[in-house]
Amino acid sequence: QYDVHIIGGGLAGSEAAWQLAEAGAKVRLSEMRGGGDNTPAHQGNDLAELVCSNSFRSDDAESNAVGLLHAEMRALGSLIMAKGDEHKVPAGSALAVDRDGFSAGVTAALEAHPNITIVRERVDTLPDAGMTIVATGPLTAPALAGDIGGATGAEALAFFDAIAPIVHFDSIDMEQAWFQSRWNKGDGKDYINCAMNREQYEAFHAGLLAGEKAEFREWENVPYFEGCMPIEVMAERGLDTLRFGPMKPVGLDDPRTGRWPHAVVQLRQDNATGTLWNIVGFQTKLKHGEQVRLFRTIPGLENAEFARLGGLHRNTFIRSPELLDPTLRLKTRPHLRFAGQMTGCEGYVESAAVGLMAGRFAAAELAGKELAPPPVETAMGALLHHITGAAVAETYQPMNVNFGLMPPIPGRTKKADRKKMYTARARDAFGEWAAAAL
Ligand code: FAD
Repeated sequence: QYDVHIIGGGLAGSEAAWQLAEAGAKVRLSEMRGGGDNTPAHQGNDLAELVCSNSFRSDDAESNAVGLLHAEMRALGSLIMAKGDEHKVPAGSALAVDRDGFSAGVTAALEAHPNITIVRERVDTLPDAGMTIVATGPLTAPALAGDIGGATGAEALAFFDAIAPIVHFDSIDMEQAWFQSRWNKGDGKDYINCAMNREQYEAFHAGLLAGEKAEFREWENVPYFEGCMPIEVMAERGLDTLRFGPMKPVGLDDPRTGRWPHAVVQLRQDNATGTLWNIVGFQTKLKHGEQVRLFRTIPGLENAEFARLGGLHRNTFIRSPELLDPTLRLKTRPHLRFAGQMTGCEGYVESAAVGLMAGRFAAAELAGKELAPPPVETAMGALLHHITGAAVAETYQPMNVNFGLMPPIPGRTKKADRKKMYTARARDAFGEWAAAAL
């Protein structure tokens, strides 16, 4: 007998199980590895396996958003952070871990908990009733993925991400770039435009062809759909292909000349507050360093700060902003909560953080209480807010935690000071929330 069924014993499912068990709830944790199944990326049978790097990224809670997330998770008794700290290896200001020791530590802690039963089984359908947390990750087994597609609407479940870079608004040079929708449709502020002359365009095109690309893994086999083809693949089709595609200049008048430029790079608003803008049609497999170098040659983006760089991967995630309520429940079937990368967050730490919140929301619901979501000024709250409503649903793509998900700091400040202002404000908001809500 159990109170909550958690499907998937990865970063999110393990953290959710721990939070629930610590709150006194009985948990059944179903993990298919160790029961005859595997994913294409996992190597062993331990829970919370790190499938690639061994880094939890920056541990600097003063000036880095993921470092701040670490601190908030520690304050909430995170198992993932406790075992990460216990198995830390030297990595400067980053938190890197001994991957085997870390996963073995998480597994042992969960196995030893009297409120948790770990069952090595694959789950193929969503339970019809009973409180459930679905945390099966980016490589969810196909049968369950199909069932999730049925429950959420097939068009709301993605099997690949096609990520265009996202730029912080306050790093765009609006002396050069301008607001305008093509043919002045809409309210005129829907797009930011960056003009290129012929010389700039041809240099940019050559840069796309020459730039070093990341390789697909053998099992990824990501198909190129016409709607989300990598920009460098489109560039290979001919010098002018991009000028007739995402870099089309027609209907866009450069205010400095009153004419259509040779080519235009457009950015579209990516979150409700307008702090983040994605570069339209620029999904790419270029290596991250190449992206920064090349995209900063775009007029107006010379000093661009990227909230996320482009990518194309196999992934499984739902269109959370329209499907989930503020406590991560599927609106149409509220006995089901989603957690981890499945919700469209990105990264080990973010996945565990969303698992932590799913566990805490479920524990509160079992106890007949309501837990207010953490405020949007905190790292945890900003991530949750983005997933459950602030992001634009139609173009929703996976996202790491970053300061652009928080409300902007009013007024002009130096960049270095601004980060500290975000984290100081977050600490106050987190403290107030924890005192009132927990
Ligand atoms: P997972 O940790 O993958 O956990 C999901 C669990 O569910 C797995 O154990 C799986 O076996 C199980 N499962 C799946 N289907 C079923 C089923 N039907 N029944 C029962 N169990 C099931 N993030 C980083 O921060 N750094 C990286 O370097 C990094 N590299 C990545 C590399 C790859 C190849 C991939 C795919 C992702 C990577 N990520 C990385 C992104 C992501 O943060 C991690 O994948 C993270 O593990 C996601 O956590 P999760 O709990 O959502 O899913």
